[in-house]
Amino acid sequence: MTRVRFAPSPTGALHIGGVRTALYNYLFAKQQGGDFILRVEDTDQTRFVPGAEDYIIAALKWCGVLPSEGLGFGDGSYAPYRQSNRMAIYQQYAQQLLEKGWAYYAFDTPDELAATRNAMEARKETFAYNAITRLNMRNSLTLTPDETATLLAEHAPHVVRFKIPEGDGNVQFSDLIRGEVSFAFAQLDDKVLLKGDGLPTYHLAHLVDDYLMRITHVIRGEEWLNSAPLHVLIYRAMGWDVPVFAHLPLIMRPEGNGKLSKRDGDRLGIPVFPLHFEHPITGDSATGYDETGFLPEAVINFMALFGWSPGDDREIMSLDEMVAAFSFEKINKAGAKFDYAKAKWVNQQYILAMPLDKLTPYVLPFLQKSTSSEKLNDAVFVREVVRLLQERCVLLTDFAAQSGYFFEGIKSYDEATIAKKWKPENSAKFEDLVKAIAELPDFSAPDFELTTKEFIQSSGLKMGEVMPILRIALTGTMAGPSVAEVAALLGKEEVVARLRNGFSHFNTATKSA
Ligand code: GLU
Repeated sequence: MTRVRFAPSPTGALHIGGVRTALYNYLFAKQQGGDFILRVEDTDQTRFVPGAEDYIIAALKWCGVLPSEGLGFGDGSYAPYRQSNRMAIYQQYAQQLLEKGWAYYAFDTPDELAATRNAMEARKETFAYNAITRLNMRNSLTLTPDETATLLAEHAPHVVRFKIPEGDGNVQFSDLIRGEVSFAFAQLDDKVLLKGDGLPTYHLAHLVDDYLMRITHVIRGEEWLNSAPLHVLIYRAMGWDVPVFAHLPLIMRPEGNGKLSKRDGDRLGIPVFPLHFEHPITGDSATGYDETGFLPEAVINFMALFGWSPGDDREIMSLDEMVAAFSFEKINKAGAKFDYAKAKWVNQQYILAMPLDKLTPYVLPFLQKSTSSEKLNDAVFVREVVRLLQERCVLLTDFAAQSGYFFEGIKSYDEATIAKKWKPENSAKFEDLVKAIAELPDFSAPDFELTTKEFIQSSGLKMGEVMPILRIALTGTMAGPSVAEVAALLGKEEVVARLRNGFSHFNTATKSA
């Protein structure tokens, strides 16, 4: 049975790189008919940010990347799924490693560590606590068993470190994306497994949890690749099966150099988080894809494409289609450049293709932010607005930006076009049109269209002299959907009133100009 996990640390808002990691875990689990677990890794309490855990859960829900078990998603048989609730579990495994000779106690004080580091740096060497330096440090490898026992009995502050084998050997393992990977022992250092307070570090806790939760595949960001040889050694030391690894390429800045950070996002106007987040301590706020006007389906779709492709030219794919097409062979080894234009294009395709009944509820909150008009309560009206603007919007925010005139009176007219197009001597003719409209028994878009067509013929005015005038009188601007459709939605009374107001404004405007 395939079991994978997404194991974020609650240190702030979940970066989209994390969302993509969760997504690839999800796609693989679904494809294999396996389980996808959410586990929160909060062993490092110094980096804990209140609210981050709820954010992670809300973000996965928003994206529709739903774990089959885990924190916030129902307990499977492996609860609890928050590491701070599992603290009693880890020590015994550190103990086993100590007993097997794969780990040791280190009693070095911060001052002693700093002294060694400084001395080495003075010799232009870099300090690492490793198979060579540990021989000069104060630990259970250099102390006698009696000295160690005494220090432990006295509760002398200490950590437990993993003992990387000495010598020229190396650790080899295979990675579904990188292929065969090899690290020399000499490249590795003796990482802390248990801290001074007896609590585990990430290295120990995640590994014990992966073992106990029967994780078969560890799919995570590339930043963990360098830690993987340590993990492989720990698995082997414990006598446990090593899971299959897949280290995912990073999401890079659009320029292609370096990881896309929040700072880059702010600089380039690219959101790097799925949802809005207010940092409860620093007060920093982070922009989310949600408030920027992206549909969750689109976010998942373009995130999947950053680093992976289905191997054909498909770009717009549902979650189910991605599940069917997903494969590790099609993940690029190189980092994926973030392409915001592509992200917006994908969003637009989703807006275009989405049935109105589904799209309208997504649009409504954006309209509610920009107007308090009572027309928002008229579901049929709102749906019509969405229908008329659907082809013209790339982001959900565009619906609010482009629909003001449907909900409120006209705030300003496109004066430049008026100056060019309005001829006061045609006023009387336009007044005839208003009368004809006012007398219409029915007021559909075709009725409006027919009336204006007849007016153009009878008045002798040209299309180009009439339509821009009507459009601006009704909407204030030259951009927008079909004038007849706009008119039909506004309704006869409103249209008559707007035309009259508009024409009288145009007369004064052109006179004073
Ligand atoms: N807690 C780690 C993180 O936040 C998880 C790494 C892993 O998946 O092993 O990245």
